[in-house]
Amino acid sequence: MTANLLDFDAGAMERFFAELGEKPFRARQVLRWIHRRGAADFAAMSDLAGALREKLPGLARIEGPLVVGDGVAEDGTRKWLLKVDGANSVEAVYIPETGRGTLCVSSQAGCVLDCAFCATGKQGFNRNLTTAEIVGQIWLANRLLEGDRPITNVVMMGMGEPLLNLDHVIPALRLMLDDRAYGLSRRRVTVSTAGVVPGMDRLREECPVALAVSLHAPNDALRDRLVPLNRKYPIGALLAACNRYLERSPRDFITMEYVMLEGVNDADAHARELAGLAARVRCKFNLIPFNPFASSGFRRSAPERIRRFAEILQQAGLTVTTRKTRGDGIAAACGQLAGRVVDRTRRVHAIREMRA
Ligand code: SAH
Repeated sequence: MTANLLDFDAGAMERFFAELGEKPFRARQVLRWIHRRGAADFAAMSDLAGALREKLPGLARIEGPLVVGDGVAEDGTRKWLLKVDGANSVEAVYIPETGRGTLCVSSQAGCVLDCAFCATGKQGFNRNLTTAEIVGQIWLANRLLEGDRPITNVVMMGMGEPLLNLDHVIPALRLMLDDRAYGLSRRRVTVSTAGVVPGMDRLREECPVALAVSLHAPNDALRDRLVPLNRKYPIGALLAACNRYLERSPRDFITMEYVMLEGVNDADAHARELAGLAARVRCKFNLIPFNPFASSGFRRSAPERIRRFAEILQQAGLTVTTRKTRGDGIAAACGQLAGRVVDRTRRVHAIREMRA
């Protein structure tokens, strides 16, 4: 197999060209062609020396994920189903808003964490995506969307837990930030985690970007049930990691995501308890109305309940936004991304080990 150049961040691309006896600026030219201009083929790279252009197809390829589904909702949200191998597909979602366009990117085929309310978790875990498969989602969306630089923000909030796949996520983040590739600011690239504490520390050292934490509960007893990873990294450890992260974060707050589940975590008392936690770390809250899927066993809190919950947090001096539900009708809302995963992990064992 030839090398897939979508796997290479700038450093890896320079090493690749150095091995061919080429100067580093060749690597930069090729990076620009691929990521800035969306090139899929070497013949188009008109400023490369002819001999190199002819040699490259024998050594390398530019191969993004295969689009097997493409749907647009009434509000303009667009969802792609992307086949990454014979058994697995993942989803990427584009959310256009005035003045910005956000791409929601997947990091794994399936997910091992099995959060109680998440569709991805229900289908088990198969494998980490490669850098090419992660960055390929942006590369592809850029090619398929209209307009000049349609993607202004990236959120790693698709399928999977990005902090359990940092070996591939970090090079992908570097490409998102690289001026020769996507040139996004660190503040406009957000990694969302269910609370993988060592991963938060590693991200802080190697590639700090905006961080969102899926909190979802104000105490360990409830969070243990909703986000089983909490049994390994309870709230105290999680908040301490948030404070360490803030020392290097491009934003001076952590976004706390909180899914609103009727009768489960949405009482006034939960909001007050949450305000107590929030006093321990600089954060903002993003309330996510639960997005139902078949046999989830949960219901979305009523709008009035969400409003009241937000009000209690605001009265405690916190900044709160409530996420608008987008992508209705194409199952593109948060937590509905399912793709197709062949679960090869005997998930129960994987989780047991994780909790050990
Ligand atoms: N593993 C990462 C990214 C996953 S999804 C994480 O846990 O943060 C991004 C967000 O969607 C998370 O906050 C997740 O908890 C939330 N989510 C999952 N299922 C949902 C659902 N059915 N409705 C609303 N939000 C959901």
